Amino acid sequence: MSSKRKPKLGQNFLSDDAARHRIADALGDLSQRTVIEIGPGHGAITTILAERAKKLICIELDRSLVPELRFKFRNHATVEIIEADILETDLSALISDGKADVIGNLPYYITSDILLHLFAASAHLRTAVVMMQREVADRVAAQPGTRDFGLLSATAQLYGTIDNLFTLPPLAFSPPPEVHSSVLRITFAPRFAELNIKDEQAFIDFLRVCFAQKRKTLLNNLRNAGFSAKQITEVCENAAISPQIRAESLQLESFAFLFRALAADTNFPKK
Ligand code: SAM
Repeated sequence: MSSKRKPKLGQNFLSDDAARHRIADALGDLSQRTVIEIGPGHGAITTILAERAKKLICIELDRSLVPELRFKFRNHATVEIIEADILETDLSALISDGKADVIGNLPYYITSDILLHLFAASAHLRTAVVMMQREVADRVAAQPGTRDFGLLSATAQLYGTIDNLFTLPPLAFSPPPEVHSSVLRITFAPRFAELNIKDEQAFIDFLRVCFAQKRKTLLNNLRNAGFSAKQITEVCENAAISPQIRAESLQLESFAFLFRALAADTNFPKK
């Protein structure tokens, strides 16, 4: 067994004072905002937000941290501490007043699941400032035509614009993780209507098919999903896309064109 123990629940607490301020500052003026913090831990970022936000809702899974947090913020009527799993929490039900902002030094073991959870609630969210493992942040923010562009990038960029703000070394945390960490700002602005996509989930399933085997061509991935070579070649020709291209080179507009031509009016996803 490795001698390096993985911290329970992804608990690498921020210990760098400048970093926690930079993260909170990235949300801007919060005086009229409701903010949801994912995994407040011992309150490194919470302490700053509690002084700034109109309302702050913190969701912490570790029941041993909750009494400490409730005690720390007992004199802040605007701060609510909820003991819950973020993935089981209906964010829309927490927000009574317009759109909320999200912030969190995320538990890295469930980063992708949390992002998908936020995207599902994107109609109720304005901005998210979230810290994750640097390599994952690079993938979320990657542009088409680069090696890192994949299903996570395409999905994230369907829901908003991504800014890769800054990177922190392991020593900014206690205990230090084995990886560097980056902070992303996601400004939610779903693109489905503009791309003329009616069924969001079917389109994401289509993206999954296109990226199924990253090193394979679009033609191969679509054939493996049950589309015929003739169908694919015709549709690609109409879109001036080579069927020999890899999905990582395509813009979202091209995926949307292919989806509308191949899958939107079928019973896709094909079982
Ligand atoms: N925000 C604190 C900080 O920066 O020091 C703690 C960040 S630590 C990386 C992640 C936090 O998320 C921990 O407090 C952990 O207990 C909490 N956490 C882990 N899984 C969670 C889940 N499913 N739902 C809510 N909180 C979770």
